Amino acid sequence: MIRQHEVGESGRRPRKTKIVCTIGPATASFDAIRRLAEMGMNVARLNMSHGTQEWHGGVINRIKRYNKKNAGSVAILLDTRGAEIRSGDLKHDLVLRVGDNLTLTTRRQAELEPGCVEVSHDGFADEVAPGDIILVDGGMLRLKVVEVDRTEVRCQSLDEGVLGSRRHLNIRGKSAALPAITEQDWDDIDFGIGQRIDFIALSFVRAAEPIIELQRYLKDRKVAVDVMAKIESAASIPKLDSIIAAADGIMIARGDLGAELPYEEVPLLQDEIVGKCRRTAKPVLVATHMLESMIVNPTPTRAEVTDITYAVQQGADAIMLSGETATGRYPFKAMEVMDAVARRIERHQEWQGINQASGRYCEPKWSEKKGERARAPEPRIRSKVEISRSAAILGNNLEAAATLVITRRGLMAALLSNCRPASPILAFTNTTSVRRSLGIYWGVHAFIVKLSSDPEVSIQRAVEQMLRKGIIRQGQRVIVLSDILAGGQFVETVQVRVI
Ligand code: ATP
Ligand code: MG
Ligand code: MG
Repeated sequence: MIRQHEVGESGRRPRKTKIVCTIGPATASFDAIRRLAEMGMNVARLNMSHGTQEWHGGVINRIKRYNKKNAGSVAILLDTRGAEIRSGDLKHDLVLRVGDNLTLTTRRQAELEPGCVEVSHDGFADEVAPGDIILVDGGMLRLKVVEVDRTEVRCQSLDEGVLGSRRHLNIRGKSAALPAITEQDWDDIDFGIGQRIDFIALSFVRAAEPIIELQRYLKDRKVAVDVMAKIESAASIPKLDSIIAAADGIMIARGDLGAELPYEEVPLLQDEIVGKCRRTAKPVLVATHMLESMIVNPTPTRAEVTDITYAVQQGADAIMLSGETATGRYPFKAMEVMDAVARRIERHQEWQGINQASGRYCEPKWSEKKGERARAPEPRIRSKVEISRSAAILGNNLEAAATLVITRRGLMAALLSNCRPASPILAFTNTTSVRRSLGIYWGVHAFIVKLSSDPEVSIQRAVEQMLRKGIIRQGQRVIVLSDILAGGQFVETVQVRVI
């Protein structure tokens, strides 16, 4: 039930659900980046499917400049192109009517006969069979395969529509046998490492192995970059558990997912994936089409508002804007809508007490349900999981103003975030990269503090910083999650303190 006093301005309570914005021509300037950051962009996404490395390098520099000037912590996520299948370049768009014939070919020659269009993937003809449905741009146009030979895939259009240059092609229900990480991807990954980005999103993930391979590659180069696996292939679905176990986080890329699989499967899969990530403490990001109509319109459709609401209610860590901020006419309005809807729903959930310890968001974290192969944590982690859980329950039951967590590498803050406590998580670390990567986790606000060898000194510094910034006030009760020195040993503690 909606209560009257919930409606209206809630003051500037921090938003818990994080927002990822895709940066494109509409938002690439320093001013646009600053504006998005000030509106609450937590992570900037760069899609390597579009633009050159040089172009993206320019954006990265501007984000870093913003962070430096403003003690900001906008994290950078580099989204790999992945092995996409695209149609070839056309002199003119092809207008198709229902029943029109069209041939997709892997012949590489300068001039193709009329009605013939190149396709980028050499093995395309081996992967399709008569009866298959090919989706152009996720379903804007559907082609039915009628005949296949070595290089030619003869199709009939099922719809009236237009085929433009370099359009995205999917084979319904199939994931093409393409390399997991292409040469181009490795080149972009090296570029990202050189630019010291924070996250890599691996596109079209179909198994855990490429995730592990990339993590090893990053580790060998001593870079702390988290690997987000994009769930967008039909083939990833039977392997969800092992993919989630391997990845540092998950992105639910609903566009391609709803092309390879029937679209009515997408909401159910979103539910399943968010649930699995919540149970295994992996950050999960809901992406694609969240405010698609705002690419051209200044207000969202009510259905889009409901879609954002659903992701927030599910407890996704983050929600994402794609074309809305990349090329849309109203990038800042879209950001405003995302922020306003998330805040409104979070306020409602707080009133309902959904985040309370007894609520459904506090189910056991490390599921040992039968048939669920989520990796059980090692004992040391297991004790951290239970400690963070206790901190969340304590904070909820005592209605603490905040939980302060001292976290060198960010793990404790991430585990606490997974418990979805009611009050803000104030995380203190001593490196800017850890601070930025905490940007994707639900409810976490990360700050830099000089960590001392004496934990109490670090806690005092954190408290002073929060008082100075007006984030907490004298007399408030907070939970503190930190090591203390006891008999010359470091011991993890959960404390209740009055400031
Ligand atoms: P993906 O499947 O990886 O999301 P996409 O084509 O849907 O690929 P988005 O990142 O979702 O791309 O962005 C939406 C649209 O915004 C793109 O189709 C493209 O037209 C435009 N766009 C995004 N980034 C850029 C960029 N860096 N330069 C130019 N256009 C861009
Ligand atoms: Mg992509
Ligand atoms: Mg997209």
